Amino acid sequence: MLKNTFKNYPNDKGYFGQFGGRYVSETLMPLILEVEKEYEKIKSNKDFIKEFNHYLKTYVGRPSPLFFAERISNDLGGPKIYFKRDELNHTGAHKINNCMGQILLAKKMGKSRIIAETGAGQHGVATATVCALFGLPCIVYMGEKDIQRQSPNVFRMKLLGAEIRSVSTGSKSLKDAMNEALRDWVTNVEDTFYIIGTAAGPHPYPTMVRDFQSVIGKEVREQLEEVEGKTPDLLMACIGGGSNALGLFHEFLDDLDVEMIAVEAAGHGINTDMHAASLAGGKPGVLHGNKTYLLQSNTGQIQEAHSISAGLDYPGIGPEHSFLFEEKRVTYMSATDKEALEAFQYCCKLEGIIPALEPAHALAVLKKIAINYSKDKIIVMNMCGRGDKDIFTIANELKIKI
Ligand SMILES: *Cc1c(COP(=O)(O)O)cnc(C)c1O
Repeated sequence: MLKNTFKNYPNDKGYFGQFGGRYVSETLMPLILEVEKEYEKIKSNKDFIKEFNHYLKTYVGRPSPLFFAERISNDLGGPKIYFKRDELNHTGAHKINNCMGQILLAKKMGKSRIIAETGAGQHGVATATVCALFGLPCIVYMGEKDIQRQSPNVFRMKLLGAEIRSVSTGSKSLKDAMNEALRDWVTNVEDTFYIIGTAAGPHPYPTMVRDFQSVIGKEVREQLEEVEGKTPDLLMACIGGGSNALGLFHEFLDDLDVEMIAVEAAGHGINTDMHAASLAGGKPGVLHGNKTYLLQSNTGQIQEAHSISAGLDYPGIGPEHSFLFEEKRVTYMSATDKEALEAFQYCCKLEGIIPALEPAHALAVLKKIAINYSKDKIIVMNMCGRGDKDIFTIANELKIKI
C-alpha cells in the first residue's frame, strides 16, 4: 500500500498495519462475520445512506455548525480557531452518529434486541435513545462503580426504557462491562445486535464506527471551504477510544498538509499510575477482540485507567490510532485533569460554551500550542460533547456547593 493512502486502511482482515484484527472465540466468530458481511452490503447502498442521512438531519440535528471562536482566537493571539459543534447533537455528543448507523444496520439484519456497554453513560444514553426511536428493547451493561458515579445518565437511560445490568466483576467499570456484553452476545446469537460505542472491538467495529463518525470531517471540509476557501492547517480532538477524533480526522488523512493532534487524558500525570494515556503510557496487547496499545502491568494485566472525565477513562485505544501513532501521521499529546479543568472554565467564560470535560482536554493542549501557529493558520477543534453531564464533577473539584 502506498504511504499516502492512510484512508484505505484497514486491509480485508481488519488490520491497520499490525493493529486491529479479530481476536475472538470460535463461538463469536460467526456473529462477527455476519456483521461484517451485512455492513459491507449496506455501506455503499444508496437507500441505506439516504435513510442514515435523513435521521442525521431530522433527528440528530446535522450538520452541526462550524463556529469561529473569535474571543479565544484573539486571546491566544495566533491562528484562527474554529469549533466543530458536535456538542449540539441530540443527546449532547457525537456518540449518536454511530448509534444511528448501527441501529439501522441491526434493523436491516432483522435483529430484535440491542445490547451495549457504557462507562460514563453517554454511549448508553445514545443507544437507549435510538432503541426508543425504533421500538427495540435495549440492555446496557455498566460497571457497578460507574452506576454509582454516573447516576444522572443511569436515570436518563431508564427514562428511555433501557434495562441496566450492573457488572460487578473485575474493576467494575467499562472494560468489564464490555466483557459482559460480549458474553451476552454469544449466548443470544439469533436475535441480538451489539452496538459498540467507540472505534474499538473486533473487526469490523473499528472501521464501521469510524465510517459512521466520519460525517464530522466531511462536514468540516465543506463548511471551511465555504467560509475560508481552504482546508484546515491543524485538526484537534480528544481521545478515549478514539471515535470522535477519527470522525474528524478520517476525511483528511490523505491531505498530508493537514496536521493532526489527538489528546489523551493524563489524569494526575503520565508518570503516575493515575492516567488514561494508552499510547503515551501503554504497550501493544490484545483486549476486546483487537490488538492495540493498552495500559498494562509488567505481567500483562490490564491496568485501570483514571481521568477526571469518565468518557476518557478506558485502558485501551482504537487500533487505527495505534497505527496512526506508529506511522506518525497523527501527533498524540496529553492533558492532565487540572489542565482540562482550567480549559473548561476558560471556554465557559470566553465563548459562552460549557464544554464536556473530554474536549476540554483538547482545548487545554490547543491553548498551549496555539502560539506556534501564525495568524493566517486555521485550527479546527472537535467540540464533541457538552458539559451539562459534568457539572457535579466540576462543582466537586472546585469545592463549590450546588
Ligand atoms: C464518549 C466520549 C468521548 C470518548 O470517546 P471517543 O470514542 O474517543 O470519541 C469523548 N467525548 C465525549 C463527549 C464523549 O461522550
